[in-house]
Amino acid sequence: MERIIGYTLEKEEFKPLYAPEKGSIVTHAFILCGNCGTSVYPAMGPRYKTICLACHESSVEDLEKIKDNLIKKFGNF
Ligand SMILES: [Zn+2]
Repeated sequence: MERIIGYTLEKEEFKPLYAPEKGSIVTHAFILCGNCGTSVYPAMGPRYKTICLACHESSVEDLEKIKDNLIKKFGNF
């Protein structure tokens, strides 16, 4: 079972980000939530347009604001 650890903004859409498979090689940089700054995962970072599960559960309206902020801060690609 793949475990969702957060959501990454890709082309204006939040896509689920999964925990790495056991034994896979990952960077040892934290992923921090681009909205609230909480730790999303202790590896695979840095990843600037990822948000934590709690922030992804925000209302549709708030999620739009988060999206706009992330795009303003980090660009839209
Ligand atoms: Zn967050």
